[in-house]
Amino acid sequence: MSDELYRKWERTVEALVREGIIRSEKVRQAFLKVPRYLFVLPEHKKWAHVDEPLPIPGGQTISAPHMVAIMLELAELEEGMNVLDVGTGSGWNAALIAELVKTDVYTVERIPELVEFARKNLEKAGYADRVHVILGDGTKGFPPKAPYDRILVAAGAPNVPEPLVEQLKPGGKLIIPVGSYHLWQELYEVTKLEDGSVKVKRHGGVAFVPLIGEHGWKE
Ligand code: SAM
Repeated sequence: MSDELYRKWERTVEALVREGIIRSEKVRQAFLKVPRYLFVLPEHKKWAHVDEPLPIPGGQTISAPHMVAIMLELAELEEGMNVLDVGTGSGWNAALIAELVKTDVYTVERIPELVEFARKNLEKAGYADRVHVILGDGTKGFPPKAPYDRILVAAGAPNVPEPLVEQLKPGGKLIIPVGSYHLWQELYEVTKLEDGSVKVKRHGGVAFVPLIGEHGWKE
């Protein structure tokens, strides 16, 4: 079963490479090392290779592989970078980040049930020692480990949360969907300049669940 799942996963990764969505060898290697079926509900394992979001507990979703690849390529992660991942969900994205930066990763999730789900998945996949899952409101960032080289947000915000910009290093980057509560946002690449101001580059339409919190949408 697992061999068959892995073969299907390899085909998905190679399709993302052919389509030009996975552009770097390091993101390709991370995808091959961290198969998505380790982070979905048991009944969805057989669908984990399909390039679409899948339901996870708490009424949330694990993002589609192409979306995760687009964000990781934009982030240009390098070994040793200090990264904050907002919206842990299943923990899959955080494990991929850990594979790319080869050091500890901090990830914040607001739903307790998902904190448990992610921790179990990360344990099974062998990342529990490096990926630290924090229960909290990720719109406030995670000040104890700031400043960050990169902050990746996997939920749609009404606008760029100020605490996340504050917790970026100069030259650091925030990747975040910004737009409406449901259905449509634009993927922003926010770079913090040396003088503390920001430069925003927009990367087209995306569809994420809402980022709910003090500096996001209200419940
Ligand atoms: N990256 C995840 C993965 O690999 O499975 C998928 C993330 S899912 C699309 C978005 C997640 O963001 C949900 O689990 C949701 O509960 C979480 N979320 C929404 N608002 C949040 C907030 N203010 N702080 C932390 N997590 C939040």
